[in-house]
Amino acid sequence: MKKTLIFISTMLLTLGSCNTVTTTPAIPNNNLVEKKVSQVMKNLTLEEKIGQMTQVTLATLGEGPDGPMSSYSPFIPDTAAIRKYIYKYKIGSVLNLPNDIAQSPQAWNKIIRTLQKESIESTGIPILYGLDQMHGASYTIGATIFPQQINMGATFNRDLTYKEAEIAAYETRACSVPWIFAPVVGLGREPRWPRMWETFSEDTYLCSQLGIEAVKGFQGDNPNQIDQHHTAACLKHYVGYSVPSTGKDRTPSHISNQEMKEKFFQPFKESIEAGALSVMVNSSLNNGLPLHADYERLTKWLKKDLNWDGVIVSDWGDINNLYEREHIAATKKDAICLAINAGIDMSMVPYSYDFAILLKELVNEGRVPMSRIDDAASRIIRMKVRLGLFDHPYNTDQENKNDFKDFASEKSAKLSLDAARESMTLLKNNDNILPLKKNTKIALVGPNSNSMRTLLGGWSYNWQGNRSPEFTEQYNTIYEALIKKVGKRNITFAEGVSYDNLATYQEEKTPEYSKAMAAARGADVIVCCVGENSYAETPGNLDDLRLSRQQRELVKQLYKTEKPIILILNEGRPRIINDIEPLSQAVLQTYLPGNYGGDAIADVLYGDINPSGKLPYTYPKYTGALYTYDYKYSENIGQAMPGAYNYDAQMNVQWPFGFGLSYTKYEYSNLRVNKTNFTASDTLIFTVNVKNVGLKDGKETVLLFSSDIYATLSPDVRRLRGFEKITLKAGEEKEVNFKIPATSLAYVGLDKKWTLEKGQFIFQIASESVNLNCLETIKL
Ligand code: BGC
Repeated sequence: MKKTLIFISTMLLTLGSCNTVTTTPAIPNNNLVEKKVSQVMKNLTLEEKIGQMTQVTLATLGEGPDGPMSSYSPFIPDTAAIRKYIYKYKIGSVLNLPNDIAQSPQAWNKIIRTLQKESIESTGIPILYGLDQMHGASYTIGATIFPQQINMGATFNRDLTYKEAEIAAYETRACSVPWIFAPVVGLGREPRWPRMWETFSEDTYLCSQLGIEAVKGFQGDNPNQIDQHHTAACLKHYVGYSVPSTGKDRTPSHISNQEMKEKFFQPFKESIEAGALSVMVNSSLNNGLPLHADYERLTKWLKKDLNWDGVIVSDWGDINNLYEREHIAATKKDAICLAINAGIDMSMVPYSYDFAILLKELVNEGRVPMSRIDDAASRIIRMKVRLGLFDHPYNTDQENKNDFKDFASEKSAKLSLDAARESMTLLKNNDNILPLKKNTKIALVGPNSNSMRTLLGGWSYNWQGNRSPEFTEQYNTIYEALIKKVGKRNITFAEGVSYDNLATYQEEKTPEYSKAMAAARGADVIVCCVGENSYAETPGNLDDLRLSRQQRELVKQLYKTEKPIILILNEGRPRIINDIEPLSQAVLQTYLPGNYGGDAIADVLYGDINPSGKLPYTYPKYTGALYTYDYKYSENIGQAMPGAYNYDAQMNVQWPFGFGLSYTKYEYSNLRVNKTNFTASDTLIFTVNVKNVGLKDGKETVLLFSSDIYATLSPDVRRLRGFEKITLKAGEEKEVNFKIPATSLAYVGLDKKWTLEKGQFIFQIASESVNLNCLETIKL
């Protein structure tokens, strides 16, 4: 207890001493917005301000339905609960879906309308409702659901990412929900982590670029005035959440100060500079300090250094977890004191109003300054003003209908299909076994071959995604898509191994290898769909990254039939397949491609679409060798010190970051740069020629990497500095340009400062490279 108090008072001193702001605001100030914020704020009592800071889950306010198919909301508000939460504690925000099950837009509108009416009657302030509609409006019946973020990473397509977010926002706002808890701009650098697929990539630059697009797509052009077709974005999970040392969700990470700033912070910074209105905090801890109590990362980095006036929301119950789980506070109240003083504006409580009671006590006892409450509440009010909620707390008429005519339009469906297609990543294609001829006899096997659940993954229709089959009748599994394309007569189907959909995601039923083998015997090729069943967050933890034993055994059995095997991977994270990959002729990584994933897979298998996805992460080969592409030189030396000792640090991966084959061939030539000697103020312009020398039209992602040959801190061997996705007809050649500010080659030094150092750099595109020389060492 004593320790906690000392810590708190040190923090209060810090709070008082660093309120100078020097940078231009990350989101420009807008007089009209600020005027409205002051108007609202000046009439609020302490209780009302604290109420604004309180977010509860919908379950606290009423009872949800058990069945999904009702077209009208059976959500029954609990009058007593509403009196408590909305009238007595004046809560400012609500999240989540009733009974963990998707609702129709009309049902959503009814829920929101009910809550808004009560809230406006109570405080005059609309509620801020938030949902995890992270890949399309995925908690809304009939909405357009897209591939998961990891697929968007594999597309390397900025435009598609922008459009996906735009549609997700539109369809979410069609439900009168103004806040989406996405995008995830954490780095997917830990393949064991069950949330890998919620990220775009392991790479900082790719996450930043797609993060910016997603923010703009969700919010539109003006973060100060978000129209009724857009929502607020919420960047997750700030910061460093994605690399738990054990691989298990919500366990500690050990990121150095430099890496935190250079790699993990950067996508948050750039997405905030693109206008993101809110940030959700990392549930876990880094180097012993939970992010929910990290004053430097929350207040200093976000609010002061970036001069950002958005909202920091806690993750699920995580303020309380400072006490209950992380043991850095002796009581619930101390936990609240730590978190609010560290800079959290809103607590996702989510099940009680204790937070409001205890925070009020803390203010009255002088442990949380009133200025902190004013800061937090005005940020929340500002977000509501920016979202236009005071003018339009909901978007419906008396019947809870609205005129969002483009909800689930054909155009949106086509975009989801395009995204799925562009994410397909061909990892192996021996003897060009793919594409298949349409009269090829196929044996379709494996647990992922006839499942919408596996194509969608978690956060789809419900949290774990296990109820998606109830909503997806109209979409095609891989099996259904293949039948649609080539007819039933060309396909024999036997899963061989199947998931137990009533048990945990890892559970499989007793295998029936012989049925799969019988199907294979009469076929020309075996299409074997393996991977994972759907999961989300901690229930998706694992102890063994290898693909399940039964699934690998299935492939081994099938191999005995001597029929060529095409492996289709449908998985949220790269499960290790080093023993079965050599038994296959082709491997197609599909990740979690969403409702049109089956169609996209069929298109690629038969060559109607030329695959253009590239791995957004490094695919590991061994459980004991988990690397990212930007490793240090000493991680890949092999036997470089003969006689002294067996050094034996050797990179051995299944497929590298950025890898992906095509049905055509691209040739790169003539990489050149505008200057080979440069200083910090220069912009480097690289140009390369890319030619489609094959017979098929295609899309190619051109990747520009840099290598810093030596630096004061051992540099990463490679860093992605640019990418462009281009379309090339057969025989066509294009010039691709990259403009790279020399300052982007800086790294963060031990002094936590960005540093550009004198010396040699090599830039590389495919097998082309150029040498450059930096002429100065400079702190930026
Ligand atoms: C997850 C967040 C999510 C929140 C609200 C948490 O458990 O970590 O990603 O936004 O729940 O559902």
